[in-house]
Amino acid sequence: MLKLYNTLSKKFEEIPKKDHINLYTCGPTVYNYAHIGNLRSYVMADLLYRTLKLDGYNPKWVMNITDIDDKTIKGAIAKHGSRATVENLREYTKFYFDEFLKDLGKVNVLKDEVEFIRVTDVMPQIQEFIMALMAKGYAYKAEDGSTYFSIDKYQKDFGDYGELVGHKFLEGKKIGARVAVDEYEKDNLSDFALWKAWDELSDAQIFWDHPVLGKGRPGWHIECSVINRVAFKGEPTDIHTGGVDLVFPHHTNEIAQSQALLGKGNFVRHWFHSEHLLVDGKKMSKSAGNFYTLQDLQQKNPYAGNVLRYSFLQAKYRAQQNFTDESLIASQRAIAGVYGVLQSGADRAKSNMEAAHVGLDDDLNVPGALAKGSAEFIYQSLLGVGVLPPRRSGDEVQELSGEVKDLAVARLQARRQKDFQKSDELRKQIEDQGYEVMDTPEGQKVKKRLQI
Ligand code: AMP
Ligand code: ZN
Repeated sequence: MLKLYNTLSKKFEEIPKKDHINLYTCGPTVYNYAHIGNLRSYVMADLLYRTLKLDGYNPKWVMNITDIDDKTIKGAIAKHGSRATVENLREYTKFYFDEFLKDLGKVNVLKDEVEFIRVTDVMPQIQEFIMALMAKGYAYKAEDGSTYFSIDKYQKDFGDYGELVGHKFLEGKKIGARVAVDEYEKDNLSDFALWKAWDELSDAQIFWDHPVLGKGRPGWHIECSVINRVAFKGEPTDIHTGGVDLVFPHHTNEIAQSQALLGKGNFVRHWFHSEHLLVDGKKMSKSAGNFYTLQDLQQKNPYAGNVLRYSFLQAKYRAQQNFTDESLIASQRAIAGVYGVLQSGADRAKSNMEAAHVGLDDDLNVPGALAKGSAEFIYQSLLGVGVLPPRRSGDEVQELSGEVKDLAVARLQARRQKDFQKSDELRKQIEDQGYEVMDTPEGQKVKKRLQI
């Protein structure tokens, strides 16, 4: 039986077994490439998903894709100009959504088993949800044309606003002001926008129309309340995951909206939050400018995704982790070490799947599992780290760029996994790009073909 820390109850709780488990992960805002801090939170969700699967919980995994918010609108306008439309927005965000999927693949997240839902695909359901909140008195349209959630009304009826942060969250705070932007700080306890009125200057031609709500677009929080409901067909969500920065305001407001409509206790049973990846003691973030993307790391190491995944698993999900170049190098070496153990066959005797399970069932205690189980079992199937032989000097792909580089990296991976059919297909694709591929004793070499 899996035991996990629940942010809501602040206790370790057993996850009860039933027919299936509804697992929801707050997905990325697709206005740019994900940074590796973002990827850590998805690797932790994936570790949870894999553990649920192995434990026989039959998880159904859903993730939203935030393709409409202040940042995606800004990006779409920068690309398509002041006449940008919803179609332009969708085209702009589709690019980063696809890049995100590639990144998930590279850090070995089981992305093909996730149902991704773009927010712009559920617009009628979002409008319906807001209308239902309005009918119950929890939403009101203000003079600025936007529709807001009334924290005051919620608090009168439920008395638990902010419980996810802590019972004393509301102490000393004044409720009343309003906030329309998507991101805000804890001190500004304000009614938040469910539907933001259209403003031609900042939104160009990006809006959806509704007879009561008017021209506008959804606020950030409402999408997750709606997508949970749509994807799980009205069933409660068993486990909801995200990074700790989402506890407030995002998840706090998801709870308020959903409980206002469905009643207390009918939304999410268990909240799972993973801690941040830090650089020099500070949270890695786009706004602080202290971030790396997976592409940055792949410049140095074509297997960076796999190595990064291994390094993420060295710290527990509820612990902060500092990112350094050295940690990546150490992880690369450790993987090569495991490869050596597997090659020698020495590991088989101490193979112990049951014991590894017990480690993970204890709030995803990876070090505990590593100490107990067989390398083969843990790395390949459970932790999802590909065990690769040490790198060879000829495997460099630095000089290559774009699609050819991706293909060369994929072919290296295919060969390491002994998938020679795939490796041959990839060779053909590389050759079609005007390059030649040689497998030498030093490794794979890819060179531009001479034009005669
Ligand atoms: P965003 O695209 O900003 O909505 O973030 C996507 C996910 O990444 C969320 O679950 C965030 O909590 C998480 N996240 C953001 N920054 C970090 C970080 N430095 N370390 C770990 N997770 C992060
Ligand atoms: Zn969310």
